[in-house]
Amino acid sequence: MPRIFDLGKYHEKLTDVHLIIGEGLCSNIYVIGREEACVVDPGVGNYANPVWPQLEEIGVTPDRLRSVIITHAHHDHAMGAFLILQKADPKIFVHTLDTMYIAARFGPNLVKVEEGNVIETERWPLDVIWTPGHTEGGMCLYNPEDKILISGDTVFADAKYGTWYGESGSLDAMVESLRKLTMLDVDFILPGHGAPVFEGSNENIRTAYDKASSRI
Ligand SMILES: [Zn+2]
Repeated sequence: MPRIFDLGKYHEKLTDVHLIIGEGLCSNIYVIGREEACVVDPGVGNYANPVWPQLEEIGVTPDRLRSVIITHAHHDHAMGAFLILQKADPKIFVHTLDTMYIAARFGPNLVKVEEGNVIETERWPLDVIWTPGHTEGGMCLYNPEDKILISGDTVFADAKYGTWYGESGSLDAMVESLRKLTMLDVDFILPGHGAPVFEGSNENIRTAYDKASSRI
């Protein structure tokens, strides 16, 4: 069964933020808040990653789940939205350029967003930062006050960055997106896979940018 981490135990700024570690080929699933909860990337949505048992363990019942944000519409991040829609009726935020395939099936729940939009959650308003490269409509979510970056598959711990060779990927776009992230002041990176970064986040992003830009 997927494991749950209460990130509030690691830092007070992450109070009421939970990380569900997916099993197998599944993204990290973040749960922001409990009363009017937001799920960022509901994961792959298969038998090993049923989402609801973990949400209910955190205290998020279907009536308390208000929104889902999908950092990019790859299967391992997005398919869990269909499990969520079986029980709840949240808005599902996806960048406009990633709404062609999977997200096209979210029906009236789909809300298309782009750079400059702000998504309200129980804990933070989150700025949409368009970060194409891994996919055309990839996005990160940023709260400037608490310096939180939810980074999808754009940047990870150990200064790793996302792949760009998928059907809608581009190395040039990835480099430009990482450059954009170096302009932010970040204390906490919550990536789409692997461990969050709680220290040296700005340096982590800078090094990832340096590594990626040296390839072009
Ligand atoms: Zn991906």
